Amino acid sequence: MTKPTFAQLLRRRFNNLVRLDQLGVPDETIKQALRKTEMDGLPFIYGSFGIMFWVYAAIQQYLLHEIGQATMVAVAVGSGAFLLIGFFMLLRGVVASKYAERVTAVVATVILFTVLLRFFFNPNLNQSGNLALFMFGIGVMFTSLHWYIFMQAVALAAWVYIFGFHPEDSEWLYFAVMIFVATFTGLVAYGVRLHALRQAEIFRFVEQRQRKELVERTMQQQTSYAVGQRITSILELDNLLTQIATLISQQYDAYYVGVFLPNKTRLAITAVAEAGSGVPQNGLQLRAGLKGLVGWVLANGRPLCIDDITRDFRYEADEKAPNAQSEILLPLKMAEKVLGVLDLQSDKLGGFTTSEIPNFQLLADQVAIALENAQLYAEIKQFNQQLEQKVAERTQALQEAYGRLERLDKTKTDFITIASHEMRTPLTIVNFNAQMLLDDDEILANSYHKKWVEGINRGALRMEEVVQSMLDVAKIDSSSLELYLAPVDLPFLLKQVGNRFKEALAQRNITLQRGELANLPEVEADVEALQKVFYQILMNAIKYTPDGGTVQLDGRFHPQPEPGEVEIIISDSGIGIALEIQELIFEKFYQTGEVMLHSSGKTSFKGGGAGLGLAIARGIVEAHNGRIWAESEGHDEDLLPGSQFHIVLPVKQPQE
Ligand code: ADP
Repeated sequence: MTKPTFAQLLRRRFNNLVRLDQLGVPDETIKQALRKTEMDGLPFIYGSFGIMFWVYAAIQQYLLHEIGQATMVAVAVGSGAFLLIGFFMLLRGVVASKYAERVTAVVATVILFTVLLRFFFNPNLNQSGNLALFMFGIGVMFTSLHWYIFMQAVALAAWVYIFGFHPEDSEWLYFAVMIFVATFTGLVAYGVRLHALRQAEIFRFVEQRQRKELVERTMQQQTSYAVGQRITSILELDNLLTQIATLISQQYDAYYVGVFLPNKTRLAITAVAEAGSGVPQNGLQLRAGLKGLVGWVLANGRPLCIDDITRDFRYEADEKAPNAQSEILLPLKMAEKVLGVLDLQSDKLGGFTTSEIPNFQLLADQVAIALENAQLYAEIKQFNQQLEQKVAERTQALQEAYGRLERLDKTKTDFITIASHEMRTPLTIVNFNAQMLLDDDEILANSYHKKWVEGINRGALRMEEVVQSMLDVAKIDSSSLELYLAPVDLPFLLKQVGNRFKEALAQRNITLQRGELANLPEVEADVEALQKVFYQILMNAIKYTPDGGTVQLDGRFHPQPEPGEVEIIISDSGIGIALEIQELIFEKFYQTGEVMLHSSGKTSFKGGGAGLGLAIARGIVEAHNGRIWAESEGHDEDLLPGSQFHIVLPVKQPQE
């Protein structure tokens, strides 16, 4: 880097001095600020010159003895008094700052007058030195070039006037140079001072502007944050928009804040939320529709900032709050779609500036998100309501169907009850008569007759069993099954029941195995009812196991829940049960056996039954507060997966 030359240095400095970056501050603003600064300094100039004049009067009176002393002293005292009065008046701010230059001119004129008066009494050449001093001094007093030049001209005229007294004196040349130097240095002082002052004002203004922007931004952030919070916590659209409008009106101290939304056809716009002191009693009733300012923003999707509403060509009479003067309108946009308009109105002219648009648009964008959210929420809510209604309708239909089924079931149970009761009497007669015939020696003597009568007897007994089952089912259905509780030794009971199938087991070559049963505790139960349960399960196990198979009995004790439960498992090596019907088989009349086989023996392989056995078993077990279920890998007549029936009974019945 080469060192800058002297000329370069000089040029750089001069350029710095001349080229002042106004940083976007308007010239008029700087001028006003300068006048204000000048005005702020003036009381002190008046005050200090006032005192100086009095000191000068004292010096004149007691130290100097010049011609015209009395007049000079009087003028100095008067000038001092005048300036001191000016000092107090200026201090109280009675003069507007736009008169700053004139007030400065007044003090300058007072000083110039004294300088000239002194010269008038002492027409001495070197008095023009005072004038030179004055000419330099005014360079740092004015901020307006016109006034400065005017005062400078007055001073020069005075000097020319003095020159008129002694035109022939050679010292004039010396004083002329002095006057020139004073004028020149005064001009430089004026320029440098003004430049510094202007720069200070610009900086001050820029700093104020930045501070204002910072405050605005902070406020915008705060509002935005608060709006955001509401968006996430409030889902009802009207409530949310009202809260947002209130928040904005509070934060920005806005006269009127409105959120406008179009109707479905977009032909009319309504204020859905309003806040601020300017909201009329019934809110803004926008009849202008798409015509006014709000309509324009809605149609164009662009913001508007208006200094004087009524002078805008788009303005329609019904779209402003009573005293509103200026307005800022922002589109509520979501992916290019304009959902509505956020409208802020001020009761002052020019209440908003275009520079505020980005800030407010940010808020408007948030409101748009809120709108979108709330609309989605409303849709979901409506959908939910429809869904709920449908569910309610279906539930009612189901309930009705259930009621019908229940009534049907009741009819069935009633039928079973009546039928079984009705069948019982003739059955007893048939039984009795068959028994009588079996006791008759003549019948027994004839082998044919004997066989037929035995057949009648077997059939009647079987029928009695079926009728008994029907009665049991009817009792279970009508919850009128009565239990006579007593301690029951389950292994013993199982043994007894097993013995009843001795013949059948031998016939079918099926082995009945007993597993661990010895250590089971007694259970509190109705022994006869339990007998029926095990009889039924065991009978099924034999019935659905092919010849040569096995039936196994096992038992376990579960200490939990207190005081414990006993589980009996009856397994067979039979045809198994398909998974999908393992629950269904406990329904009454449910059976998979073929009807054709129903008349076959009750323990013959796959011999039919009425489909009541398991329904009765479950009814009895549940009446004992127990559980019964079937387990099987499935139904397969070749692979024979077998089935297990589990019966769990509590050791003690709960106290009623
Ligand atoms: P059913 O009088 O027809 O035997 P149940 O109520 O006793 O009536 O049984 C209902 C159905 O459950 C039977 O038709 C049969 O299909 C099935 N079932 C019951 N026990 C067994 C078993 N141990 N093995 C295979 N299937 C069985």
